[in-house]
Amino acid sequence: MANLDRLIANTIRADVRAVANYIVADASGFIKLDAMENPYQLPDALRAELGSRLADAALNRYPVPSYARLKAAICEELGVPQGYDVILGNGSDELISIIDMATARQDKRAVVLAPVPAFVMYQRSAQFAGMDFIGVPLTADFQLDMPAMRAAIAQHEPAVLYLAYPNNPTGNLYDAADMAELIDLMGANDKGIAVVDVAYEPFAQTSFMEHLPEFPNLVVMRTLSKLGLAGIRLGYMSAAPALLAQFDKVRPPYNVNVLTQVAAEFALEHIDILDAQADSINAARTQMSAALAAIEGVEVFDSSANFLLFRVADSESVTAKLVAAKVLVKNLGKMHGLLANCIRVTVSTPDENAAFLSALTEALKS
Ligand SMILES: *Cc1c(COP(=O)(O)O)cnc(C)c1O
Repeated sequence: MANLDRLIANTIRADVRAVANYIVADASGFIKLDAMENPYQLPDALRAELGSRLADAALNRYPVPSYARLKAAICEELGVPQGYDVILGNGSDELISIIDMATARQDKRAVVLAPVPAFVMYQRSAQFAGMDFIGVPLTADFQLDMPAMRAAIAQHEPAVLYLAYPNNPTGNLYDAADMAELIDLMGANDKGIAVVDVAYEPFAQTSFMEHLPEFPNLVVMRTLSKLGLAGIRLGYMSAAPALLAQFDKVRPPYNVNVLTQVAAEFALEHIDILDAQADSINAARTQMSAALAAIEGVEVFDSSANFLLFRVADSESVTAKLVAAKVLVKNLGKMHGLLANCIRVTVSTPDENAAFLSALTEALKS
């Protein structure tokens, strides 16, 4: 009879066996400020209408794999330039693995480059695709370290560069001229693709989508998660049609399910509501940032996203006290040297933000 430990040792890759599981805390009973979710739902009347649309979805059929109607709505409503199409992913997490799978060549190990600290999936996906990940530290004020980035591109000739704009977990926008220079450098000699991930576009109110025609090697990726639809899992990306067509070959044909498709089409018909929610979150961010700055012992960083990064004397004990007060935040103190004693908090409703601020004030007193 097979022994499971030996079976795993003989079959599962060593680097996969070595990684820790992606741990998501159980949030029931907590104020959940750890995952950049939008706290608002659609209004009741719209939810009822969505319910009847979902009831009409043909659950017995596979999705139509062209997803033509949803893609057209995305291009129309979300600022994809004329002449550019999108492909859809089950969250942008899936799009990242599609890009990596398509570029992880077999004759020599390909390299993924990203400034760090960055969104963790850039590294994880590269590893699982069998690519080398090179992380170049940001400067102390979380901007791109241009000499180091130029040197890394020259030395490693990365197949893919990932830039989140604004960056997660730091929340800031990089200098757009620096980004353009790096995209150009990646494209020099036609050696590399640059991916700009604009997950937080609704809060930054700036994108990179409109720059697609300027850079043949540019991919712009976005998710609907942070806009208020994290539960439906939908991301999309655009690029020059010939490049996009290559990625589309790697995409599982029915990767977006019919319920997601219907819900996304419905949400895009009511995009003004989601945009208004983003506006309230932005206003709340300004208030919360000022409130954090006024607390002694807190250093808060500028953010163009729906979260704030701040530093305290001891992020581990403060996070533990917040959890004891039923407020979930993300302690990033151990993620990267630049984030020593930093905590990331999602901006939420005025009530939840006030509850967080008072719990934090208490935590810093005791
Ligand atoms: C949250 C986040 C994503 C993940 O998006 P999903 O569509 O939910 O998979 C992608 N990129 C960045 C930078 C993020 O912060």
